[in-house]
Amino acid sequence: MNAQEFLDRAEIRRTPVREAVLGILLEERRPMAYREVAARLPGRQDRVTLYRTLLLLLEKGLVHRAQDLEGTWRFCAHAPSAGCPGNHPHFVCRVCGRMSCLSGIALPRLEMEPQTVVEGKQMVVYGICASCAGKFPREREV
Ligand SMILES: [Zn+2]
Ligand SMILES: [Zn+2]
Ligand SMILES: [Zn+2]
Repeated sequence: MNAQEFLDRAEIRRTPVREAVLGILLEERRPMAYREVAARLPGRQDRVTLYRTLLLLLEKGLVHRAQDLEGTWRFCAHAPSAGCPGNHPHFVCRVCGRMSCLSGIALPRLEMEPQTVVEGKQMVVYGICASCAGKFPREREV
């Protein structure tokens, strides 16, 4: 499915910015920070519009978000065809900063105290990605 179909199915009115943002996330298949998405959009985009777009897509379940090691929110497209069960864990490399989706794994269900208001869940695994680990093989032997 493309961005337009996802928007239609979620009953979100299509706008050029919404289509472009979701299109970029569907294409990249990794969590992207606000500034990365902004850099990929053609022309200058209004900061508030772009941020509201990401929050709308989040609210409608078309994207997930997780924080990287600096605490910056990153957004990834929800791709049911890739086996996404809902929000999923992410991996972030502390060397290159690249974040990837651990799709196909559901976040655990937690027993919470009654009255607790859960507003979100995230699980981030961090370390050194395969590509960075390959560049520094000696370090790993120590
Ligand atoms: Zn998903
Ligand atoms: Zn890396
Ligand atoms: Zn993800």
